[in-house]
Amino acid sequence: MMQPALDIVIAALERIRQTSDHLPRASRTAVARLQASHPLIAYMPAAANKAELLVPIRDRVRACTKCPHLACSRTQTVFGVGNPDADLMFVGEAPGVDEDQQGEPFVGRAGQLLTKILKTMGFAREDVYIANILKCRPDTPTGTFGNRVPTPTEMQTCRPYLVDQIEVIQPKVLVALGAVAVEGLLGTRGTMRELRGRWHAYNGIPLMITYHPAYLLRNQAPSEKRKVWEDMLQVLERLNRPITERQRNYFL
Ligand code: SF4
Repeated sequence: MMQPALDIVIAALERIRQTSDHLPRASRTAVARLQASHPLIAYMPAAANKAELLVPIRDRVRACTKCPHLACSRTQTVFGVGNPDADLMFVGEAPGVDEDQQGEPFVGRAGQLLTKILKTMGFAREDVYIANILKCRPDTPTGTFGNRVPTPTEMQTCRPYLVDQIEVIQPKVLVALGAVAVEGLLGTRGTMRELRGRWHAYNGIPLMITYHPAYLLRNQAPSEKRKVWEDMLQVLERLNRPITERQRNYFL
C-alpha cells in the first residue's frame, strides 16, 4: 500500500478509536500487517497487552449510564472475570443479585455450578473468561426477590461492551449459556432444543450453545445434565484438550 494511503487509514482508525465507544474493527492479521508496515500504529497493541486493552472498556462500563434505570438501581457494574488470554470464553445473560453485590459474574448458585463444570473440564475459573451480555443487574420492583430477564433493548444497548471484550480476548471457542445470551450475542431467537449441541459461529469464532446453569438447577433430570456435559465435551475436543475416559462417562 502506498504510504499516503496508509497514513489516511491509520488516521481514520485513530479517529474512530478516540471518538467511538468501541475499538475499531480490524482482524488481528490485518493489524499485524499494518503494524509491520507502519511503526507508528499503536491503536491496537499486541496480544500480550490484552489485560491492558480491557482496562478502558472496563472504565467505560463502570461510568456507563446508557440505561438510566439500571445505572440507578445497580450496586455496581459487573464487567467480567478471568484470564484475558483465555482460549475459552463463556457468555451469560446478566448479573443477578449475588453478582450485583460482588461485582463478579456467575458467583451465585448457578455460578457455583458453572465452576463445577469448569473444574470437571479441567479448568479453573481463572483459566477461562466469563462475561455477560448485560453489565448491570436488570432492576426489579422494590420489595421483590429474584432476577429478571434483560429486555432486547437493554441487551442491544449493552452489547457493544461485550463485542469489544471478545474482540480483545479473541478466544478460540465461545460458549453461550442459555437462549437469552444467544439472543443478545447473535440477535437470533430460538429454542434451546434447536440451538444447543452444535457449532455456530460469532465473527468467525466457533460458538457452542448450551443450557444456562440456572436451568440445570431448576431441572435436575440426568438427561438434561448429560446434554450440557456433551456440549462441553465438544468444546474440549474443539480446543484439542485431552479427554479422559472418566470425563467421557461423566454426568454433572
Ligand atoms: S446495562 Fe450496560 S449499557 Fe446499560 S447502563 Fe449498564 S453498562 Fe450501560
